[in-house]
Amino acid sequence: MTEPDDSCPKCGGELHQTDKNTFTGQVWREYTCRSCGHIVDINEGVALWQILHDDAEEARQKNQKKEDQAPAPVREPATKHFALFVQGLLIWALF
Ligand SMILES: [Zn+2]
Repeated sequence: MTEPDDSCPKCGGELHQTDKNTFTGQVWREYTCRSCGHIVDINEGVALWQILHDDAEEARQKNQKKEDQAPAPVREPATKHFALFVQGLLIWALF
């Protein structure tokens, strides 16, 4: 357990950690002064799970973009079908 550098801002007493939470996506440590009961909240930055979550989200969005940018399946031009149709007609007419 690491104690904050600062002692109680009110009375200079010893702070001890009383709580820690990450539910906001940020790591918060709560310290309470042993002398006067003053509570100090310290934000230690983004929680690890939030970073991992963001990375996963970013990767997911990148993949989605890739899918969006992927070329559409190649379709044979309609003229080719028409040419085959005409060819078929000619064969039918000739034979
Ligand atoms: Zn205090």
